[in-house]
This record gives sequence, C-alpha cells and structure tokens, in this order.
Amino acid sequence: MNQDLEQRQELMDELEAGEAAVELDDKEPHEVLEWTIERFGNRMGLCSSFQAEGCVLIDMAWRIDPAVRVFTIDTGRMPEETYALIERIRERYGIKTEIFLPDTKVVEHMVSKHGLNLFYRDVNLRLLCCQVRKVLPLRRALLNFDAWVTGLRRDQWATRSNIRKIEIDHDHGGIVKVAPLADWTEDEVWDYIRANDVPYNELYDKGYKSIGCAPCTRAVREGMDSREGRWWWETGAPKECGMHCAIETGGFEHELAALLGGHGNGSGH
Ligand code: SF4
Repeated sequence: MNQDLEQRQELMDELEAGEAAVELDDKEPHEVLEWTIERFGNRMGLCSSFQAEGCVLIDMAWRIDPAVRVFTIDTGRMPEETYALIERIRERYGIKTEIFLPDTKVVEHMVSKHGLNLFYRDVNLRLLCCQVRKVLPLRRALLNFDAWVTGLRRDQWATRSNIRKIEIDHDHGGIVKVAPLADWTEDEVWDYIRANDVPYNELYDKGYKSIGCAPCTRAVREGMDSREGRWWWETGAPKECGMHCAIETGGFEHELAALLGGHGNGSGH
C-alpha cells in the first residue's frame, strides 16, 4: 500500500463497523444513507459511475442532503451516453460531480507502448488499463473522504455476494465503505427509477445491463447475466476492474510499476 493510503486516524474500528453493519442490514437504502450522512457529513463521497444504482443513490441522497458530494472516475473511454447523463444529473439536481481523471503521463506511456486498445489482447493488459484508468484515480479520489458510498449489490456477481452495508475498506486506508443497495434486486432499482422519474443512461434502452467503458461494454440478450456484457471476450477472468476488490495476478503488477516509474503511487497528477 502506498504511503498516502496508510491507515489514517481510526475513523471507525472493526467492532463499530460490524455493529453498524448488523444494525443497518435490514434497513432501507435511504436509512443507510441518512446514517452515513449524519455520521460523516461532507467527508462522505457518493461514488457513481452513473449506472442505474448510482443514479438511484444520487436521487435518494439529494433528498436527504442537496449538498451531498458526488464523485466519479472519468476513465477517458466512457460512452457518450454516460457523459450526457452526467450533464442531465447536474441540471436536474444542481449537483457538481467531482471528476477524477487518470494520470495523463501514465496513460500516455501505456497507450504508446501497448496501443490504445490494449485490453482486447490480453487479460493482464486489460487489468493494467483498469488499474491506470480506474483504480489509481479512485485511490487518489478517496484521499478526500472518510467514507464512500457505492451502488454495489449482492446479486450482481459472485464476487459481490458477501458485501456488507457497512465495512472498513482496508484497500483504501481504512476508510468506511457503504453499500446501501446491497440487498436490493435489479427490479427494485428500476422500480425506484420509474417511481421517482430518476434520469438514467440511455444505453439501458438499447439492451445494456451493466455500463462501464465504451470499448469494454456491450448489450446482452434477455436472460443473460448483467455483467456478461463486460469484457465479454475474456474467459475465466474476474468481471471486476479492481476498484471494489484488490486484484493480484502477478501478471500486470510489474508492468504497472514500470509505467508508474517516478510517479510512484499514482496519486500524482
Ligand atoms: S474497462 Fe476497458 S477501457 Fe475501461 S479502464 Fe478497464 S480495460 Fe480500460
């Protein structure tokens, strides 16, 4: 772990987090958000990639606190529809999304060396791209917060089946990670969107069920799992980018260290 992310002053210990997770596990998402906003105030950041879950959480959090802080990682490869949605959210709620970008020099080195579409060639190059464009900017973003809220749901993918609504995020300096929608189904998310006329990404109307970067996401057929449209050309690789669970394969780490060179931890600009 890099030095910036070494354990900060203890915000919440495992015992308190465990008790809060138990207490809030059967609470509604808005109640979990109320608890988080009350506990952390403007040191809480709602992380959204502007998928359906993130839009639901923005709507709920804005109703509790119109000044809620929302942030996103702009990988530079997002679909136009996602950028359009960010603007619609800004107009609808008056929320200025805090946008974090990858380190320009590291991206330059990566694409000069491996090509712009390196991710299609090899799982390790895909994971390298995700590290550079998503994981490192997220790390830098989280230095601004004591707690972050995500739209993770347990039924999205096997790697997410055990997430708790409140947990200590040891990958990010021991801050608190909150998943208010952990026990919601996809249907409940869409029921909320329709009932509250929440803006959502137009790609959902074109058959997409999970939306990430444009070159790595495609529509899925009815009945397919939502994350099957992500990195569809890979077999046996995790349908994760490393933002929500540390990925270590031994295959990309050396190349990442070489790309970072003097940049060290990727928290520079
Ligand atoms: S999803 Fe694709 S384009 Fe986006 S960061 Fe990962 S590999 Fe790169």
